Amino acid sequence: MIERCGSYCLSDVDYVHAFFPHLARVEIGRVQLGDDGLLVHASAVGAVANCPKCQVASLRVHSRYVRRLSDTAVAARPSRLMVTVRKFFCDNPSCGRKVFCEALEFADRHAWRTRLANDGLASVALALGGRAGARLSRVLGIGCSPATLLRVIRRIPEPAVTTPRVLGVDDFALRRGYVYATVLARPCHPDRPRGVAVPARPPRRHLPADQDMEGVA
Ligand SMILES: [Zn+2]
Repeated sequence: MIERCGSYCLSDVDYVHAFFPHLARVEIGRVQLGDDGLLVHASAVGAVANCPKCQVASLRVHSRYVRRLSDTAVAARPSRLMVTVRKFFCDNPSCGRKVFCEALEFADRHAWRTRLANDGLASVALALGGRAGARLSRVLGIGCSPATLLRVIRRIPEPAVTTPRVLGVDDFALRRGYVYATVLARPCHPDRPRGVAVPARPPRRHLPADQDMEGVA
């Protein structure tokens, strides 16, 4: 089916790629619309694949299998992918890996969800947390449990940590009169910290002792 849209002429595959731009590198097969959402059949078509252990490219196909992935919702309907991917032989004699699965650029290895869908869930989870995020995800057509959202948050990689030059230091009570703790906060603008500079406290065990650090009250 070809339909004219403005000055563009879109085929069925173009429509699918318009809604799923992250699938541009795979071949789209059938697209089924059922009561439980959209089901897209696709196949990986790259000529070669790199071994994840030695990074040597391989052309020899060992076998094929189908990966099932959840994807972003379309018009509040859940969408799923069934992607036929291949296993390749690794022909590098010095590599311990004999057979490997080709990687998909839109999904991590062993993931059940595309990276785009995972990023969307992570945004919902970070904004609303588990229970409220799960309620919103059902409205959006993603539909996941509070525990899933918490797992998504836990899998977000930690940002790279650099040794701060300026720290805000404050004490607070976990249980007044019994248990106290100290919070170390990094100012948003380390070059222009608010507050009054005070002499640095003695280095704590979890701070690098050899760093010349300035305290801010
Ligand atoms: Zn290898």
